Amino acid sequence: MIGQKLSKSFSAGFGVSTGELFWYLVLASSVWAVLYLVLKSRLRHRRVAPHEPNSGQIAREVTYSLRSIGVFGLVTTLVVFAELSGGTMLYYKVGDYGWWWLVASFFVMVFLHDAYFYWTHRLMHLGRFYRRFHHAHHLSTSPTPWAAYAFSPWEALVQAGIGPLIVFTIPSHPSVFAAFMLWQIAFNVYGHCGYELFPRWFMRSPLGLFLNTSTHHSQHHEKFRSNYGLYFNFWDRLMGTNHPAYEAKFESVGARNS
Ligand SMILES: [Zn+2]
Ligand SMILES: [Zn+2]
Repeated sequence: MIGQKLSKSFSAGFGVSTGELFWYLVLASSVWAVLYLVLKSRLRHRRVAPHEPNSGQIAREVTYSLRSIGVFGLVTTLVVFAELSGGTMLYYKVGDYGWWWLVASFFVMVFLHDAYFYWTHRLMHLGRFYRRFHHAHHLSTSPTPWAAYAFSPWEALVQAGIGPLIVFTIPSHPSVFAAFMLWQIAFNVYGHCGYELFPRWFMRSPLGLFLNTSTHHSQHHEKFRSNYGLYFNFWDRLMGTNHPAYEAKFESVGARNS
């Protein structure tokens, strides 16, 4: 019985990490190809990261990301084991909670992840945690899309923690959780792409107050001690941790193209 559960958990963990690997490779390689190869010279004025990456950096970002996906797989295996033992809030029939919750639960996951990321990120910047947990991610001062999962194994465990937090506390349909996972890797690849893709009017619109940008996270990699948020800007605004030059930096990129 327990052997069966373990083997089911391992194969589910393997399946989920294969999906994560697939989306990481597809999104990072396509964004890389477009920004760093095909449109490199045309988008020069949209570059927000200060340096060009070398092949050693990219190799490190890919290697660390693959290792993180392995850690995510182990955490998924444990979560599936808990599910098979009846311990999670996963559900499979949409009718159990209705269509409205199917849609709303996606946004709940995104807002919960945003808060989880902001606070764990700030903790990992504290002196006693920084080297073990977060230093590996900051080896890239000019990150590329390949850095999306470039974490130490300890940070990968922290980042993977959002999965259990969601499925143990929120009624979660697997399809919504899969959509959430796709959203997080897509935003993460954008945040690390090293180019600003949003138009210049963005920062002057209500969206600029609300949603984070690639400039925001690029500045975090460059300056370290500000811009801790993930998807949304309100935690940084609330806690006064936006870099003072964030909006000016955003306005300065793409000056030829508004
Ligand atoms: Zn980063
Ligand atoms: Zn950081």
